[in-house]
Amino acid sequence: MLRSHNCGELKSTDINTTVALSGWVQKIRDKGFIIWVDIRDRYGITQLVFDEARTPKKVFDSARNLSREFVIQIKGQVIERESKNNELLTGAIEILVNELNILNPSEIPPFTIEDKTDGGEELRMKYRYLDIRRNTIRDNLIFRHKVTMEVRNYLNNQGFIDIETPYLIKSTPEGARDFIVPSRMNSGQFYALPQSPQTFKQLLMVGGMDRYFQIVKCFRDEDLRADRQPEFTQIDCEMSFVNQEDVLTQFEGLISHLILKIKNYKIDKFPKMTYDEAIKNYGSDKPDIRFGMKFGNITDKAKGKGFNVFDSEEIIVGFSIKKGASISRKEIDKWVDWIKKPQIGAKGLVWVKYNEDHTLKSSVDKFYTENDLIEWAKITKADSGDLIFILSGETKKTLKQLGELRLAIAEKNNLRNPDIFAPLWVTDFPLLEWNEEAKRYHAMHHPFTSPKKEDLGLLKSFPEKVRANAYDLVINGNEIGGGSIRIHDSKLQKEMFNLIGLSNKEAQEQFGFLLGAFKFGAPPHGGIAFGLDRLVTILGGEETIRDFIAFPKNNSGRDIMIDSPSMIEKSQLNELGLDLNKS
Ligand code: ASP
Repeated sequence: MLRSHNCGELKSTDINTTVALSGWVQKIRDKGFIIWVDIRDRYGITQLVFDEARTPKKVFDSARNLSREFVIQIKGQVIERESKNNELLTGAIEILVNELNILNPSEIPPFTIEDKTDGGEELRMKYRYLDIRRNTIRDNLIFRHKVTMEVRNYLNNQGFIDIETPYLIKSTPEGARDFIVPSRMNSGQFYALPQSPQTFKQLLMVGGMDRYFQIVKCFRDEDLRADRQPEFTQIDCEMSFVNQEDVLTQFEGLISHLILKIKNYKIDKFPKMTYDEAIKNYGSDKPDIRFGMKFGNITDKAKGKGFNVFDSEEIIVGFSIKKGASISRKEIDKWVDWIKKPQIGAKGLVWVKYNEDHTLKSSVDKFYTENDLIEWAKITKADSGDLIFILSGETKKTLKQLGELRLAIAEKNNLRNPDIFAPLWVTDFPLLEWNEEAKRYHAMHHPFTSPKKEDLGLLKSFPEKVRANAYDLVINGNEIGGGSIRIHDSKLQKEMFNLIGLSNKEAQEQFGFLLGAFKFGAPPHGGIAFGLDRLVTILGGEETIRDFIAFPKNNSGRDIMIDSPSMIEKSQLNELGLDLNKS
């Protein structure tokens, strides 16, 4: 037996018992005649004492050879600690050691195994197994486990069946880029890793499974943005005989259960907002609604007063900042510069100060009277003491830019409080979006999403006006999940494929299996998938998803610990029929 207890459990009630502990050396304090060693495992830290007067000489001498991260086993007696440490679970006791076994020595670790480590991220990633020994990462992984257990229990109790779907599937050009796996046995042919189990979960519904879920890895070969992983985990779900409202109610239940269980935070009902409202009022399809700053459209009030910039633009829109009138001109100029930077790309920013003394001052005073400005203040819900920021331009672009400005100001003013959870359903997404490069429509969610019944008539004449039975769950401005009610009719599915540019032949080649399945009594069905990595990170009150993944990839999609991706042997390439010199 290498241990009788773990390093986090001994208390004053254990005093005088003889125990065996195993773990890593966290810290050594050598006072000459007495040596204190902190021993650590997943459960905590216990203080060991090697006392020249009371510890056998051989053991005391051996303690001198210890160093950080050695793996040791000790036996000894639990004694009362003189200076108690209330911060530590085991802070009331220490172990007077009489036997020490060095189970494995350790080189000096490349960074300190402390909460505030001296290791930079790259170094910590290279030695991730050491990083995992730190409280933060260990606790994050345990936290993730708790969340997934809650998800499993909840869905299991609701009758959902956990079913595995294949990882080696077929490449299709829709959606993001696939990761490709060459097939040795079928030379010149390739599998793809799933971007999601979408078609499989639908086939499970055709198969009558009724309620499915899976906590599943998905793979997307996309250009990496900050905090995006090429492989990530979804809580993937599908249900039969449901409409949109049924799905939202079901998964609102799951998410509010998680927030209550994990954060002890009760949320009654998630608000809903259509995609059009979200864009119009917040310039984003995933608005952060923890704070106001809702947009006001002043186009009609601001045009035709001789200000050329406004007169020639499609939309003039702004929002008010509470107590913003006290912001200095210098500070305002900083925002003007911010909005003009290439990532945002606005041409300029108009401001109005609604002073405490009820006077109004703006950057366009030459063209507008105080009465005009008061009209604007009404529309943007500004009061005396507030500041209004206004942008103008092409509608879609301008709303997006104003949305970015809104978030940046909220960030600066500490309005994005991580202790608040503000979930929101965004519904009625457009079915299609025009892709200028490819000169064709793309499915906004995916091509299996059903159009709204009342918009079916527009499918041929105004495809971009058709709304989908598609919804996203947004929490604090992050897209946490998305799903839709699916098409279950072979003819409509074919029509949808045609709309996104697939000929009947191509549709048959790529999705013949699904079109075929729909001819054998496919039930109405729908579902959703949540991004587990981000959900866990948000529930954990953090921002970096890498901190909640055991072995994450870096921002260039590399695993720098195992050094992957990597070259493979020429013989391996040959075997796969992939001789790069051949063609
Ligand atoms: N498969 C979809 C996705 O990965 C989610 C869904 O529609 O259920 O986004």
